[in-house]
Amino acid sequence: MISGEHQDLDSAALERLRGRLNSYMAKKGLRSTAQRRLIIDTFFEGASHMTIEDLLNEVRGRDKGIGYATVYRTLKLLAECGVASERRFGDGLSRYELADEATTHHDHLICVACGKIVEFEEPRIEELQEEIAVRHGFAITSHKHEMYGTCPDCQQTA
Ligand SMILES: [Zn+2]
Ligand SMILES: [Zn+2]
Repeated sequence: MISGEHQDLDSAALERLRGRLNSYMAKKGLRSTAQRRLIIDTFFEGASHMTIEDLLNEVRGRDKGIGYATVYRTLKLLAECGVASERRFGDGLSRYELADEATTHHDHLICVACGKIVEFEEPRIEELQEEIAVRHGFAITSHKHEMYGTCPDCQQTA
């Protein structure tokens, strides 16, 4: 699996996320402006693990008038209502991807040389984590599994 693509998108789950966002915005009295809709659509259709700057560049390709603050606030909104997950991979940047229920639960391999992010799913790791949690009497609500190293391309140029 290559980073930068939303994988295995489940259209029913996407509809649920959109529904959750709409009711959250209604509850907060937030209007669905054209700019906000464009940012949200671009996020839903765009690559995974986008930073605020990445998303800003994408939306500016479609509407030059959109500012950093609007993109920032919209991403925060998506994260607040659980539509987007915020991830940090040690470079000081926040990256955003659609919540797990729209993709499938996955973990990450991060190249510390070029920043490439690869997603993987490994049932054996999930199972082991569950066993460890049980052993320690924990009820797990979420987990993050991140591996840092160098990708094949960067090993070649080293
Ligand atoms: Zn690399
Ligand atoms: Zn991911």
